[in-house]
Amino acid sequence: MKLPQHIANRSAGQPRGLTAAAALEGVGYGTRPPVRSLYIHIPFCVHKCHYCDFYSFVDTRDQQAAFVDRLVSELKALAPHAAGEPLRTLFVGGGTPSLLRLDLWEGLLGTIGELFDLSKIREGDLVDANGRFEFTVECNPESATPELMSLLKSGGVNRVSIGAQSFDPRHLKTLERWHDPENVGRAIEAARTAGIGRQSIDLIFGIPGQTIEEWDADLRRALKLGTEHLSCYNLTYEPNTAMTRRLALGEFEPVTEELEAEMYRHTLGTLRDSGLCRYEVSNYARPLLASRHNVAYWLQEQWLAAGPSASGHIWGAHDATAGSHRWKNVPRLGDYLASGAGYSPVIDYEPPEPTRLVRETIMTGVRRSAGIRPRRLFAGLAPGVLESLTRTAERARERGWLEMNDAADQWKLTDEGFLFADRIASDLMGCIR
Ligand code: SF4
Repeated sequence: MKLPQHIANRSAGQPRGLTAAAALEGVGYGTRPPVRSLYIHIPFCVHKCHYCDFYSFVDTRDQQAAFVDRLVSELKALAPHAAGEPLRTLFVGGGTPSLLRLDLWEGLLGTIGELFDLSKIREGDLVDANGRFEFTVECNPESATPELMSLLKSGGVNRVSIGAQSFDPRHLKTLERWHDPENVGRAIEAARTAGIGRQSIDLIFGIPGQTIEEWDADLRRALKLGTEHLSCYNLTYEPNTAMTRRLALGEFEPVTEELEAEMYRHTLGTLRDSGLCRYEVSNYARPLLASRHNVAYWLQEQWLAAGPSASGHIWGAHDATAGSHRWKNVPRLGDYLASGAGYSPVIDYEPPEPTRLVRETIMTGVRRSAGIRPRRLFAGLAPGVLESLTRTAERARERGWLEMNDAADQWKLTDEGFLFADRIASDLMGCIR
């Protein structure tokens, strides 16, 4: 995409000739409020899981120091855009952030603390209308050691997300996930002992060969660990993953759509009975303990992004109504390291465009239990578009998939509708011209 001249990049020769500076220092800089969320991507993993399409690669430990140096330089460029307000959420994902060496973590946490205002996160229980202030780090069960947990705690981390995926060694093997399921509980315990009060567990259902009883056993094992938050994703076959290639070669049979739907219904019922509320199609939490960082994505708030393949989002002006800038950092460590200092080069950039923002809000909003606020969201659209959206929504309501509440200005999915969330979102988005 061609950039307007006034936000043209100053880093000629880098991939596509753009950097995040284009978005951050272009239209609206100085008029929009400080950014209050930050995502950092650490690309190293022990092994490439077969279902994974995130940017990550097997860690050989020889690039970690250079990576952190480059990351620190990028964070220094980004920090002024968050100045003036304390951060609300910080999320370090990957990849496997817990694989970073302790000395590198120590330096990185020190830099983050110097560059960004973590005061509200450190206060602990602060909350806004959409959840608690949080600093989350994703961890692999094997590398979430007591030493790392203590270090993270001292750097302000108050939440960890543990990638369990399954407690059944057979299913972990199918996913090519290499960890001992016993270590999930040890990781949670290490976090608690260090004083990291909030923990989440990731699980996957619909693994080839998995039965409803086995999925139930995974859910119950996770619940027994007493975490406040669970993410339960159905296995998806992303393009260019080993899992998808194996499927095409006929190495296994995927679970049927009926079984997958049964597993989803079972998840909802089981977790509800245990006091965990669904707040998004795949995410369940105790009251006020939703992942505030993810909510920031879904509400189209602003966030900065650092590290290869990380995606950022900032408003074009004082709020999101005028549209927003989106960009994605280069998804290759070599390009990231070679780009010198400051902002990362980017591989993709989208300038503000109000109807794109409406489509994106539909896509993420429909998947939330709170749904969307049609009067507010569709206020600027042409009457014909509005009629088409309403007709589409009414069709979903007639099928029992959507509740439309005019008084509350709310369209939200029914329990059954959640099984068709992507289809309903796509139908609604198709109405926006
Ligand atoms: S640990 Fe996570 S990021 Fe790394 S390969 Fe597995 S799924 Fe992907």
